[in-house]
Amino acid sequence: MQYVSMREDTSLDRMQATVDAWRNEHSMQPLPVKLDKDTVCYSTLEAIDWLGTHANDMCCPAVKYYDETMRPAGPEARELEVERQLESLRVKLEARNRPWWKEHQTGTDGMVECAHCRSMLNVAYCGVRKGWRNHCPVCHADLRPRAVQDQFDRWKQEYLQLREERDRLRDKRRHPLNWLILTSPQGRPSHIKITCR
Ligand SMILES: [Zn+2]
Repeated sequence: MQYVSMREDTSLDRMQATVDAWRNEHSMQPLPVKLDKDTVCYSTLEAIDWLGTHANDMCCPAVKYYDETMRPAGPEARELEVERQLESLRVKLEARNRPWWKEHQTGTDGMVECAHCRSMLNVAYCGVRKGWRNHCPVCHADLRPRAVQDQFDRWKQEYLQLREERDRLRDKRRHPLNWLILTSPQGRPSHIKITCR
């Protein structure tokens, strides 16, 4: 069994030319490369199995796979930028659990009202032992101004989105996505040869 491994962004024309050259060199008739765009295999062995079940005399099947044998690449500019933004959001979000009214007492006349149950709460007890923190001790509603809560929610949302992007970028460079093309199904199945182009 003979295979060629090529980068994910290789054009079909280039794959075809590579396979044609390889088959010509080994005195085999040219065959069209047939890409499966919907399947992604999670290892080289899985890709080899997949190609084994799709081998025929009419085409050279090709499937995308995560090549665990390739050395991971370093992070690129976008990933580093996302990391910086995540760090800055982490710093902002750290303030989320600090007692809000303890730090903003000067804007009050010593009392804040719970917008939900209308209890009047003494800010001198905000953030102290046996006092209250950010939630109403009577009805448990969040006592911080709506705009402050919304701001934290937006940061949190932004944080989660960026973290997802960072994870995607990291996975991609740690396990590069390649095409594996079956150039010839001839030979013993245990005899596997992969050429990287
Ligand atoms: Zn309340």
